[in-house]
Amino acid sequence: MVGSVAVGGDAPISVQSMTTTKTADVDATLQQIYALAAAGCDIVRCTCNEPEAAEGLARIVPRSPVPIVADIHFHHKLALAALEAGVHALRLNPGNIRKPDQIKAVAAEARDRAIPIRIGVNGGSLDPDIEQRFGGATPEALVASAVRELDYFREVDFDDVKISVKASSVPVMIEAYRLLSETVDHPLHLGVTEAGPPPAGLVKSVAGIGALLAEGIGDTIRFSLTADPVEEARAGRQLLEALGLRERKNVDLIACPSCGRAEVDVIKVANDAMAAFADRQIPLQIAVMGCIVNGPGEAKDADLGIAAGRGKGHLFVRGKIVRVVPEAEMVAALVAEAEAIMDEGFDSVLARADADAERLAAEAREELLQIQGLDANRDAQRIERVRNAGGN
Ligand code: SF4
Repeated sequence: MVGSVAVGGDAPISVQSMTTTKTADVDATLQQIYALAAAGCDIVRCTCNEPEAAEGLARIVPRSPVPIVADIHFHHKLALAALEAGVHALRLNPGNIRKPDQIKAVAAEARDRAIPIRIGVNGGSLDPDIEQRFGGATPEALVASAVRELDYFREVDFDDVKISVKASSVPVMIEAYRLLSETVDHPLHLGVTEAGPPPAGLVKSVAGIGALLAEGIGDTIRFSLTADPVEEARAGRQLLEALGLRERKNVDLIACPSCGRAEVDVIKVANDAMAAFADRQIPLQIAVMGCIVNGPGEAKDADLGIAAGRGKGHLFVRGKIVRVVPEAEMVAALVAEAEAIMDEGFDSVLARADADAERLAAEAREELLQIQGLDANRDAQRIERVRNAGGN
């Protein structure tokens, strides 16, 4: 247990993130913790890098909506101070605190207080002797570092531990966690360290964490992005939702990729809709489709959607057209209809569908087909030109 959040076993996979404020700045840190919790973060880590940070933790912990983990880098005394401040867990980097007596002193104190510790191995700050023994930050070296720390903990009868073996290389990280899961029986905290800014950082994190989760490895996750930590928490939550490992609480926005038939700027409308729904607790699948010709059919399994046609937005609920709105009001109409579904349910919303909405959609569809023809991308003309250019 990290505070009230179970980690490991059958517990749901939890999302973690880390504050970027000075921990001594209690108000700014709490503000970020609340924003992270709203984005779906279950556990938040704060650095405890100086005595003022430990004092800040003493004020933050009782006011935080989620459990707090203190991140300890070099000074074991700060780990003891963080425990005194009432944190729900510690994270120790075996590469940074290397004196066995200090490690055991922290573990003994955590044991007496029934506070768990994460052994947070990091490929970039591995114990030098282990790195030398294995010839670099290999998967075997990362696991060996974690096992050595575990052995110190066992000497003082402490094993309330979760472990991470993060590397910035996705293949190394995946191999390290696979090896770790065969070596120990502790909950695992997954992450690709220093993944960098989105979108590349997101891709690396999803590749590493997603691959392991799909293999059944991992109990809690953190995206380490060079971005607002709220983005990390949101991405972590969205990955779990996409894998079906977390009940959806927010909108699942789907959108067509757009093509020659598109009657609106689908990218803009989809992004506007994404921003309008943000982290609102509306667990519906909502579709933004570029044209009335194919949109409602392609997105008939969505709970709600909108398809563009001749300056209008055609709003559909579970494949049935319920309303036609001016193009400029497409996003607002989606939000209003989503709220109505949440308040009244699907039956009520479908029952008061505009009588002529289906007819107007059919007319717009016909009109578009007449203008665009069946071949909206004009493939036939293009191929003809390609043939001519090629001399056939
Ligand atoms: S046919 Fe319509 S719905 Fe399908 S990709 Fe093109 S614009 Fe989008």
